[in-house]
Amino acid sequence: MPLVHIGEALARAQQGRYAIPLYDTFDMHSTDGMFLAAEEKQAPVIVAIYESAMDRPNAHALAAYIRTRAEEATVPVSLMLDHGTSFEQCMRAISYGFTDVMYDGSKLPLEENIQTTRTVVRAAHAVGIGVEAELGLVGRGSDYEDHDVRRKGFTDPDDGEAFVAQTGVDFLAIAIGTAHGLYKGEPQLDLDLLREIRSRVDLPLVLHGGSGCTDDQFRAVVEAGISKVNVATDLYATTGRRLVKAAQAENAAYFSLSRAAVESFQERCGFYIDLFGASGKA
Ligand SMILES: [Zn+2]
Repeated sequence: MPLVHIGEALARAQQGRYAIPLYDTFDMHSTDGMFLAAEEKQAPVIVAIYESAMDRPNAHALAAYIRTRAEEATVPVSLMLDHGTSFEQCMRAISYGFTDVMYDGSKLPLEENIQTTRTVVRAAHAVGIGVEAELGLVGRGSDYEDHDVRRKGFTDPDDGEAFVAQTGVDFLAIAIGTAHGLYKGEPQLDLDLLREIRSRVDLPLVLHGGSGCTDDQFRAVVEAGISKVNVATDLYATTGRRLVKAAQAENAAYFSLSRAAVESFQERCGFYIDLFGASGKA
């Protein structure tokens, strides 16, 4: 089961009340750890390139590496653009062989977000690519203040219904209290809002900004209807700490460090697969 568009696997996740992880990769070691974890756990997985990494000189080659690994994998793997910044960037990702793209117009006024998302959806669907969009604003953890102030960025269920109907988007990222990066303070999630949105739109819902949430919070959001969870910050922080230790070993060489990096990604990615209930769902 090689490279896939993730739509069918996400539809099964939505039915079965588990979540498929998306991991952002920046290089071969992190990518290898993600593949090893997915195969060890027999789970579908989404390997993603983050929008800013699309401007690196290795972006096209990294995409080709992920595609080749996916073609040889024993589990379904999607190659996705994470937080695509424009129609043009989404099209470039498709030309690199990505199977799914996220277009993120969440910082735009609603009407503009709808218009651009619809344009991306139309072009992507013409060539069989799945599209995720974001409604409401999943902010940055460093700006995370008190719950009541942040609520203004939360996804409005009425807007959600209209957005899905008007754009034809395949997967929807919603804002229910998470934030990107490391949190200042504790994340507080609005599960009632999640359940309300879940009851009003029929497509896989996506949680961004999970790093820093507790295991119980992850279980609760998956139970309440999240079908895809994006993880990045925690993988890189965990691996960074592990490499600092590995670098202090006597005779530390690049080989042992790169091996430690792959192992760290495999362990941490495997942990999330279990936590989201995706083990054995390949
Ligand atoms: Zn995100």
